[in-house]
Amino acid sequence: MALRAPPKYGTTMLPPDTFKDDVVFITGGGTGIGKAIASEFARCGASISIASRDETHRLAGVEAMEKIGVRATHTFVDVREPESIEAAFDFTENALGPVTILINNAAGNFEVPAEKMSPNAWRSVIDIVLNGTFFCSREFGQRRLSAAVGGAILNIGATYSWTGGPGTSHSAAAKAGVTNLTQSLAVEWAPDDIRVNCLVPGYFPLPDRSEGGWVTPEGKAALRRASTIPAQRIGEGQELGWAATYMCSPYAAYLTGHSLVLDGANWLRRNLRMPEFEPVRDVYDAARAATKKD
Ligand code: NAP
Repeated sequence: MALRAPPKYGTTMLPPDTFKDDVVFITGGGTGIGKAIASEFARCGASISIASRDETHRLAGVEAMEKIGVRATHTFVDVREPESIEAAFDFTENALGPVTILINNAAGNFEVPAEKMSPNAWRSVIDIVLNGTFFCSREFGQRRLSAAVGGAILNIGATYSWTGGPGTSHSAAAKAGVTNLTQSLAVEWAPDDIRVNCLVPGYFPLPDRSEGGWVTPEGKAALRRASTIPAQRIGEGQELGWAATYMCSPYAAYLTGHSLVLDGANWLRRNLRMPEFEPVRDVYDAARAATKKD
């Protein structure tokens, strides 16, 4: 037995015109989870701006949106750079109109024991995940506030916000910051009809994501085994799409400051009885040795 399978890919949960007057600006929307979420907004009628660094990624996103049949554009953005974000918003607004929904999906991550992490590695992940989320939110908030109109922000979190992430301490700390920022901005901007929520995926190995450096092939394979998850199945991209569209839709007009975990109860399975403990540095060293042998 397992948690039941979701409706099939392409099924739409909300009315097809739910976002017909909306422009969605999604960072990292050309790959993986970002593209899955952008696709569901498109199925509900939104115009989409795919913003990231790599043009190939962006074009893949635009192609997917155009197949669904909505207006789409793409723009360079490096979320670490506020000037680049301002230019990307200007470009989007000229092409599609004012941005009404912001999805902070861009991230970078790789596994490394804390004592081996360079200051540059630490800064780079904090910069993309936490600073990038704040800089994009600030740009969006300033524009919506000065036009005196509302909007919605959806951040993409991770469950190690609450558990810590041994081996990815930079990303875990940054995502914890994102969860916290969600709450601060929700309170600051609620009177202005700007809602701020966070969608927290479990492990979603979507085929077109840029696969990061999970150190051991065994570890990666374990993550993909349905038997390791209480739900006894892996989540599907459209499930994130439905949650994201609901959270930004008028049907969630009273929902703000909320983090919604979609992971088949995986992060809750911690217990006093746990599998054998392996220090991060041993796993990392073993994986490096195995890679050198190949
Ligand atoms: P992904 O395919 O690697 O997506 C990351 C995206 O971020 C890429 O499209 C990348 O595009 C963009 N990006 C990276 N650095 C950027 C920068 N400086 N400026 C602008 N864009 C940047 O991985 P994913 O798995 O779909 O992850 C999407 C989100 O889900 C992330 O927030 C991640 O933390 C979260 N998440 C994923 C999982 C999972 O199992 N997949 C689990 C929990 C949370 P460019 O290379 O074109 O810039």
